Amino acid sequence: MKVDKDRPSSWRKYDSTNCTKCRANCCAMPVEVKVSDLIRLELTTQDEAENSVKKLAKRLKKEGYISSYREGTEFFMLTQKPNSDCYFLDSKSRLCTVYDKRPDTCRQFPAQMGTRIGYCPVEQK
Ligand code: SF4
Repeated sequence: MKVDKDRPSSWRKYDSTNCTKCRANCCAMPVEVKVSDLIRLELTTQDEAENSVKKLAKRLKKEGYISSYREGTEFFMLTQKPNSDCYFLDSKSRLCTVYDKRPDTCRQFPAQMGTRIGYCPVEQK
């Protein structure tokens, strides 16, 4: 069955060898991040976030890093490019440009995070 990132029932069981040649389909899905992730990404500081999360969200949206902010959950949505790729994904190499500083969501996918835990939308290059 062909893997379709928008159809979790078609995903393959996760195995670390999947990552070797994957096309980073997981990086073309919406990614929600917290203030702690934004600090690690060096997009803000603890001081700025403590001052006003709403103002921080407004700035990051204006600068293009996030597409939205949900006040109730304090989750920021990272911007996706027109082809759905994450703002931080190199669309040619299909590699993360901020890998060492990537958000927790990305670190935990798919073992602890994702639409279908333990499965990923792997599609080999
Ligand atoms: S931050 Fe990096 S690992 Fe996370 S979705 Fe974006 S490109 Fe992928």
